[in-house]
Amino acid sequence: MIVLAGGDLVLPGRIITHGSLLIDGVRIAGVEARRADPSGATIVDAAGCYVVPGFIDVHAHGIEGLDTLDEGGPVAQIAARLPRYGVTALCPTTVACPPQALRSVLAQVAAARVARPPGSARVLPAHLESNFINPEYKGAQPADCLRVPGPAEAGHYVPDDGAFSARDILDVIAAARPDVGIVTLAPELPGGIDLVRALVAAGHRVSLGHTGANVDEALAAIDAGARHATHLFNRMTPMSHRAPGVAGAVLAREEVAAELICDGYHVHPAMCHVAIAAKGPGGVMAITDATGGSGLAPGSTARLGGRRIRVTEDAALLDDGTLAGSTLTMDRAFRMLVASFGQSVADAATMCATTPARQLGLTGFGVLAEGAVADVVVLDRGFRVVRTFIDGREVYRSGTAA
Ligand SMILES: [Zn+2]
Repeated sequence: MIVLAGGDLVLPGRIITHGSLLIDGVRIAGVEARRADPSGATIVDAAGCYVVPGFIDVHAHGIEGLDTLDEGGPVAQIAARLPRYGVTALCPTTVACPPQALRSVLAQVAAARVARPPGSARVLPAHLESNFINPEYKGAQPADCLRVPGPAEAGHYVPDDGAFSARDILDVIAAARPDVGIVTLAPELPGGIDLVRALVAAGHRVSLGHTGANVDEALAAIDAGARHATHLFNRMTPMSHRAPGVAGAVLAREEVAAELICDGYHVHPAMCHVAIAAKGPGGVMAITDATGGSGLAPGSTARLGGRRIRVTEDAALLDDGTLAGSTLTMDRAFRMLVASFGQSVADAATMCATTPARQLGLTGFGVLAEGAVADVVVLDRGFRVVRTFIDGREVYRSGTAA
């Protein structure tokens, strides 16, 4: 047994100060309001630290120069680098790409889900920022990979020069269903609502994103089963009082959970505050939208879906200056939530761990509770990661080359 002793245990909505977290094997065996010292246990002194559930990032393209769509099987390498940032599980995320590239990523996801390499974050089913997004809201997504979901006369089958079709992409998804978690799409495209229904019926989680839908189209997609919003406010119709847009629809409908890029740059802290106030911490998932530029110094270069990106002080940019995702990491997202967005430590933990776990249907994850899986992070008073545990085993300790 391992005991994280004397730390402030961050539970949903409250904190137990000077408590102890008991870990037995892969599970949390107890949450105690005192400094426990059972005989035979390994005692880890957590005094002066916060103990939080491991962060779950549902939108991450890469880290430290690696992108999910790189050659050479990067998904496992990405997962291996994340525990130092407090991430214990991630949805590897792709930009729109050709079918063979998507197939490769999903095969890597499948392999990593079957056997998690020791020391690596858990790989969850992938998040596809899919081919079915609105070209006018594509951001850094490659225009030549975008497709209309259907029907045929509206461009479902692209007839020219052997280029891949919407059907080809749907076939890749169908062949790898368990490894496709979230599918981001624009419901206003021809066939969009039918695609929402079909994907939901097949067990995927449909997310509204990179979309120019008006509020009625967004509400229709929610009625058709969409339950997730991709980087709320970024690359979607904005909210105004007579035209609430996708953002307004997402804020208005409780059954939809919203991703929020918590770097203070993609979304102004005041709007983050508005979103969290509207939806509650139970309806907001802090994400990084991390690129290969995350964890690299300003001036560095990396790739996003094969294209070069540049790291600036604020974010990652394509060569033409298009905003291309963040350089955020989850530990910094946590710090931003508390220090810049005025959230409590408990609510920050909810948005970084509990809500993503709930929304993905991961029971026994994302919470410090007896019986839950022991994916746990110890943070110092500045919210820097001191130790990370996955399945009850320490996989990262600051100051060591774990
Ligand atoms: Zn995006």
